[in-house]
Amino acid sequence: MSEPSIFTRILKGEIPSEIIAETENAFVIRDIAPKAPVHLLVIPKTEDYRNVVELAAGDPDLLVELVGLANSAASEHSDGDFRLIFNTGERAGQTVFHVHAHVLAGGLEEKSLG
Ligand code: 5GP
Repeated sequence: MSEPSIFTRILKGEIPSEIIAETENAFVIRDIAPKAPVHLLVIPKTEDYRNVVELAAGDPDLLVELVGLANSAASEHSDGDFRLIFNTGERAGQTVFHVHAHVLAGGLEEKSLG
C-alpha cells in the first residue's frame, strides 16, 4: 500500500488546509501557490484515479461532479468565469498523482490562451 497523497492527508486533517467546499465525493481547497487571483483545487475524495483520463474512464459521473463543484466554487469565490485545468503527466507539470482540477479565476482577460 503506497503512502496517502498530500490531498488525502489534507482531507483527513493531517496537513492544515481549509476545506472551502465539500460534497459526498469531492472537496475544494485553495492552492498553496496561487497562479491567479483565485486558484482553487477540486479534488475527489478517492485517490483511485491518478489523472483525468483514468477518472473519465473509471468514473465519469465523478468527473461530472468535479465540473459542477468547480462551477459553484468559481461563482462563490469569483465572478463565475473560470479556467479548468487538469495537468496530466509529469511533463505537463503534474506533481500530485491524485487527480485534481485547477480552477483559475479572476483577472484572466490579459492571459487568454486563445
Ligand atoms: P499539479 O502540479 O499536480 O497539477 O498540482 C498540484 C498543486 O497542488 C500545485 O499547484 C501545488 O501548489 C498544490 N499543493 C501542493 N501541496 C499543497 C498543500 O500542502 N496545500 C495546498 N493547498 N496546495 C498544495
